[in-house]
Amino acid sequence: MKYKIPFIKPSFPDNEKILQDYDAILKANWYTNFGPYEREFAKLVGSYVGKEYFAATFSSATTGLIASVIAVLGKGDNSKYVIMPSFTFPAGAEALIWCGYKPMFIDIEKESLQMNIAQARTAIEREGKKIKAILFCNAFGVGKVNVEEWEDLSNQTDKPLIIDSAAGFGSEYNHGRKVGSAGTCEVFSFHATKPFAIGEGGAVVSKNEELIKLLKSIQNFGFNQSSMTETLGFNGKLQEFNAAIGLRQLETFDEKLKDRRKVFNKYLEGLNTSKILWQENAENSSLCFATAIVKDRSSRDSLLNKLRKNGVEARNYYSPSLHNHPYFLNQKIFSDLSTTDIIDESVISLPIHDDMKDQDVELILNLLK
Ligand SMILES: *Cc1c(COP(=O)(O)O)cnc(C)c1O
Repeated sequence: MKYKIPFIKPSFPDNEKILQDYDAILKANWYTNFGPYEREFAKLVGSYVGKEYFAATFSSATTGLIASVIAVLGKGDNSKYVIMPSFTFPAGAEALIWCGYKPMFIDIEKESLQMNIAQARTAIEREGKKIKAILFCNAFGVGKVNVEEWEDLSNQTDKPLIIDSAAGFGSEYNHGRKVGSAGTCEVFSFHATKPFAIGEGGAVVSKNEELIKLLKSIQNFGFNQSSMTETLGFNGKLQEFNAAIGLRQLETFDEKLKDRRKVFNKYLEGLNTSKILWQENAENSSLCFATAIVKDRSSRDSLLNKLRKNGVEARNYYSPSLHNHPYFLNQKIFSDLSTTDIIDESVISLPIHDDMKDQDVELILNLLK
């Protein structure tokens, strides 16, 4: 079914600009393997996050996650766990398993929809050395307020903190601190469905320049300077065409972010009722969509039906959570996932586009009222 208002509607750079880049790439005869577009894009992704940050671009967030796990933890032998939320996208758990680790699912908090730190601390106290690291997943790319508490937990317990911020390029934690700047490293996706879209692509950002160098080697078959394999790697490189799109997107991204936040504010103002809870700190995020929690499953389902029947493609991300997917059914759950289960039943995700028309927002608001 084709919806009048699709869930995701990426805006790509002007044809003419992209044609110039295409032409230049053909003339340079340099399509991938750290060409001039990729190198410039990587530099600007790092400096977008902060002055002292470095970035390695990737062919996707998933290859970035796999490389991060190998770079930070080394390859596992399936005897160790990495704690992570179940309420997230599968890529993080899949990356862990590919690298020889097992996910241990931790419950989330009701207000932020982010992993519960008290439970994470208890899990580390109880399981000790069996837990190798923390994979924090910024839910919907929204930065966890007080992410510093997670950095403290990571430092105190000596467990590296890898952060999956796939949809969060442009988001902020608190006091203007950019998502991308926390933990051991953070992973972004530039997939067509994310607020910062280049088609397929991703990046890992860190203030540790040595780690970024290692990530660039891992994504290029583990090659050292003389093209000799020195570490276990694979091919996870970003193409010049996609990097060129990324550079163009950076030119207009902050303006588009403002437009997305305006749409979100219209949702907030139009639905100022205690019957809907909006995700904490979403207003400071890049808003891949707007996430709200409603009373229960039946009100959620009837709202979804009503929206869809009227041409609005609404969803219920990340429901069902990972522990309910067939492949993850036997993975370890720490304690219980009671809040995750409640959120799974009551979460609704509403479209946000860069160029969303007022009348489209009005239509959605009227349907929800
Ligand atoms: C989209 C997404 C990914 C996957 O990104 P790709 O670039 O498609 O690999 C991983 N984690 C989260 C949380 C995501 O939202």
